[in-house]
Amino acid sequence: MSQQTINDNEMIDILVIGAGTAGLTAYKTTKRIAPTVNIKICDPGPLGTTCARVGCMPSKSLIQIANNWNSYKKLNNLGLTSDSSGKINISKVLEHVRKQRDKFILGPIGFLEKQEKDGCFIRGKARIVGKNPEGQYEVEISFNHTEAKSHIRAKKIIIATGGKAFIPEQWNLPKDKIKSTHSVLTTENFFEQKDIDQKFAVVGMGVIGLEIGQALANLDIETYLFGDYSKIAGIQDPIIQKHAHQVFEKQSNLNIVSSNVHLKLNEQGQVEISTDTQEVTEKFTFNQVLVATGRRPSIADLGLDNIGIETSNFNSFKEQLTNNLEYKDTGLYFCGDINATNTILHEASDEGHIGAIDAISKLKNESLKKNSKRRTPLSIVFSSPQISSVGMTYEETQKSSDKYIYGSSSLERQGRAITMLENTGSIRVYAEKATGKIVGAEMICPKAENIAHELAWAIRDQKTVHDMLKGPFYHPVIEESLRDVLRDLAKNLTLEQHDPLFD
Ligand SMILES: Cc1cc2nc3c(=O)[nH]c(=O)nc-3n(C[C@H](O)[C@H](O)[C@H](O)COP(=O)(O)OP(=O)(O)OC[C@H]3O[C@@H](n4cnc5c(N)ncnc54)[C@H](O)[C@@H]3O)c2cc1C
Repeated sequence: MSQQTINDNEMIDILVIGAGTAGLTAYKTTKRIAPTVNIKICDPGPLGTTCARVGCMPSKSLIQIANNWNSYKKLNNLGLTSDSSGKINISKVLEHVRKQRDKFILGPIGFLEKQEKDGCFIRGKARIVGKNPEGQYEVEISFNHTEAKSHIRAKKIIIATGGKAFIPEQWNLPKDKIKSTHSVLTTENFFEQKDIDQKFAVVGMGVIGLEIGQALANLDIETYLFGDYSKIAGIQDPIIQKHAHQVFEKQSNLNIVSSNVHLKLNEQGQVEISTDTQEVTEKFTFNQVLVATGRRPSIADLGLDNIGIETSNFNSFKEQLTNNLEYKDTGLYFCGDINATNTILHEASDEGHIGAIDAISKLKNESLKKNSKRRTPLSIVFSSPQISSVGMTYEETQKSSDKYIYGSSSLERQGRAITMLENTGSIRVYAEKATGKIVGAEMICPKAENIAHELAWAIRDQKTVHDMLKGPFYHPVIEESLRDVLRDLAKNLTLEQHDPLFD
């Protein structure tokens, strides 16, 4: 069926490679803004986007159940429940996560099926094979479940092939055995598991490793989290890091092992993890392990070497991307996780938009209203409590630390946090000394997802500490902690705009 959506050697204006968040946004933007542009999008599947299929959404679905279960256990510990014999059923939890996942992927899949009927979606894998003298790219499309191949020519290409979880090659794990035993998992197949072993390891203390590892611990699974503890979840601010360590060390069922590790399959098919920071190497044995050691851009199979683009030194390749994400002036755009810059969903979507607008402008030779200016940086870790970073990072402010002032507040005695049984963590906000403008923040606290948005919008609008203090702060809310931080900052500002009522 998909072969019918292209005639061999058909010429089009724009080909979008990859129907994830960035690719779909690029495609939809083009259809909306320039309906006469001949655009097609291709993807061999599995369809549904990384976010909905194996990423943001199933992980948040799991975390939500884990948090709910944790709240129930807190009530139990306080003697507030009548029955303390409850046990969580992990296989039912995973089934629930998959049911929700199946709903989330319906939207993108339904949209692509409609585009397929209209002849605009090609269910196939793209590889660039050359560039003709007219400057058009020649792309080979391999179709699923058949040897058949077709070719398409495109003036511009938006490459949005995302990234993939990987298992480090140096462990030399036998691929077929891992596949058949499901002993070493990545996020590509974790949510497919029908059950999880009661003792489980997560390798990697980045955002994904922490989120899933802590969720499993909250679901009463004896979880071991391996990795570099000093970099857990990418936290930079030493005060936030200290609070994070306090929180995670108190977490039940979570065993933190700060070390580089080596994985090996033993004869029984179990995974042996050895650490290398101890004088005597320590060994741990598990039936199941999730490897969350990062994601790699899906760039190797795109045939870029056929047109003289070298990507083995990825950083040098990346340096050649313009603000509009075009590689030099080639008409090739690299949007979303493929460029491994801001590998989060709203950035992938923005990048699809930015790439599409630039491609359309150049095709039509007219300058469309463009905005390649990026939004205020914002990232959220859905741990418990949540962690967030907004605007300038701590390390960025430290490069000229005399220009900035730092305010903080602990959540330990915060009224609302106490009623929520979540009075841990801290908020740190950074402001420019000369103007009082808020420039960045990092926090670990309940409802960080909300506080972080408020701060991101304040930074976007160039608000000062005093501007923010003029806002109402209802009682009792977590935002009162943000007010404490702002007051702490205000102490270090000698500005005329002080107003006793609002300070
Ligand atoms: C476990 C996990 C949790 C996450 N949680 C969050 C979160 O809470 N918040 C957040 O903002 N972000 C989160 N992310 C990150 C977010 O999911 C990604 O940043 C986003 O999905 C990237 O979108 P993309 O369009 O770049 O790539 P993708 O959605 O991965 O799309 C790439 C597409 O390209 C296709 N493709 C690959 N090669 C080819 C080819 N040769 N030809 C044609 N098609 C091809 C693939 O099949 C795929 O459909 C999470 C990620 C993971 C893994």
